[in-house]
Amino acid sequence: MNRAESSHGEWQLHIDWTRCDGRGVCTELLPGVLGRDDWGFPLTRDHRDPVVGTDRIAAARDAVDLCPRLALRLDRTRRT
Ligand code: SF4
Repeated sequence: MNRAESSHGEWQLHIDWTRCDGRGVCTELLPGVLGRDDWGFPLTRDHRDPVVGTDRIAAARDAVDLCPRLALRLDRTRRT
């Protein structure tokens, strides 16, 4: 997959909670997608992987790349 492919469609941001240690880099890069708790851990709506639209995909890719614990992954949304 290359960056050009990632600009189309919607993606879901998956957080590996076994790796995340709450430094909050992702919440700073994606304020409209992720909230942040008092300890710096990301908060997601209904505890589901948040959907990332095309307008936020660049920031989401940055969050994946910059997560110090390699805890983030982007997956294509599944349409049913
Ligand atoms: S950047 Fe990574 S380690 Fe830090 S809060 Fe986000 S998912 Fe967790």
